[in-house]
Amino acid sequence: MFEVLHKDLLGRIGRLHTPHGVVETPTIMPVINPNLILVKPCDMAEYGAEIIITNAYVIYRNQSLREEALRRGVHALIGWEKPLMTDSGSYQLYEYGDLGVRNREIVEFQVRIGSDIVVPLDIPTPPFVSRRKALRDVEETLRRAEEAKTLVNLRDEERPLIAGVVQGSTYTDLRESCAERLSGFDIYPIGGIVPLLEIYDFRRIVDIVMAVKRKLPPNAPVHLFGAGHPMFFALAVAMGCDIFDSAAYALYARDGRYLTNEGTYHVKNLNYLPCSCPICTSHSVRELMESVEILASHNLYATFEEMRTVKQSIVEGSLWELCERRCRAHPALLDGLKRFAKYADFIEKYDSATKHPFFYLSEISAMRPEVRRFAKKISRLNLRGNVLITTSMLSEHEAEKRRYDHILIMKPPFGAFPEELSETYPVGQSEIPEDIEDSALEIALENVMKLINANKNAKFTVECEERWMKLKKMEDLREMENVVIVHR
Ligand SMILES: [Zn+2]
Repeated sequence: MFEVLHKDLLGRIGRLHTPHGVVETPTIMPVINPNLILVKPCDMAEYGAEIIITNAYVIYRNQSLREEALRRGVHALIGWEKPLMTDSGSYQLYEYGDLGVRNREIVEFQVRIGSDIVVPLDIPTPPFVSRRKALRDVEETLRRAEEAKTLVNLRDEERPLIAGVVQGSTYTDLRESCAERLSGFDIYPIGGIVPLLEIYDFRRIVDIVMAVKRKLPPNAPVHLFGAGHPMFFALAVAMGCDIFDSAAYALYARDGRYLTNEGTYHVKNLNYLPCSCPICTSHSVRELMESVEILASHNLYATFEEMRTVKQSIVEGSLWELCERRCRAHPALLDGLKRFAKYADFIEKYDSATKHPFFYLSEISAMRPEVRRFAKKISRLNLRGNVLITTSMLSEHEAEKRRYDHILIMKPPFGAFPEELSETYPVGQSEIPEDIEDSALEIALENVMKLINANKNAKFTVECEERWMKLKKMEDLREMENVVIVHR
């Protein structure tokens, strides 16, 4: 049902097959509320929507919508012929308590009205609840997911896709075990994160998503439920989330809020419109202030524009750089990216080995998986005799070459590498600023020390400028028996 075409970090361009056609991911599903339509569903494709999501529970509880959906199908009811996912009413369950609808009833209804992706009535557990409650909710969510499978004819080629929702609140081990126990589903939504999005707790969201990703099969499509703000797309896709839903375009518009990939503006505070979408180039600030529909329309343009930017960066292998740029928009996003970097070992397993030139943009660049992968590879070098490690380029060392058995170049944030690698990715194809942070030098020295430790029988001369001499790690290097440090 899901094929992967391109990869970068854990992000991918994929193709999801549904009964109403193929959807290219990553993508966003605009949320359509049948009772309150700000942008006509038939216009959604113009913005770039390939799939939309509507709420089966909202349709089910309204007699006339229910009867029409049963008679003509949900696509005809909404006015959208392309893929369509239905939600089960879990969110309403979370907001209002008991719905008076059973899982079996709402799943069967979704199947009967012809939904392309059917969601069981999972229990959305809020963050920070007791472990006992989180565990009980996971068990019930798993039971309902299994029940949903029995209500769909799995052998039918035209059958809807079935979602297995991952819950577990803020307990990463429960998220892991829930993801592990869900198997044989077509798509895996991660639920219960909206309250964390509302308080910008991106660090915790990163921990939850990474826990889930560790346990799902690598080729499983993942839906991050409720993450509709474009400023978060780059990081969320980098973590391996493929599908998003946006109620934000409409909810924000109703509040007079104008979405951009760098954050949100109150339209009443804008003197100028920073965007060049068809709305912003043909309307005034005042017109956006006065019409929720027009503002919602801009919000959709801004949302899909950002997703196209994310997709392009996957194809060219520059998703990390995009994350660094986007996550500068808010300190909480920056915290999220730093937390994501802590999973470098896991990311490294799936990340492609060569890509777009390595741009060092900030000290977070030093935390990239490429740096870790490089250090691992280099520490396996087998060196003997006299070794020179120098910060200067090799051409200056022709005369010295004869005195040493090996000459290595030291470059932040990577460490030391043999001349032969100076054209290869990432070291040879990296753009590093002259005025780089000390933290990047420290990481390079740390990697040099690993290399020296792995080659105790060789004698090392480390040659560098004054700046390196002042680093904390230099003191440790000085204490090593087989090292001489020379000032350049
Ligand atoms: Zn615009």
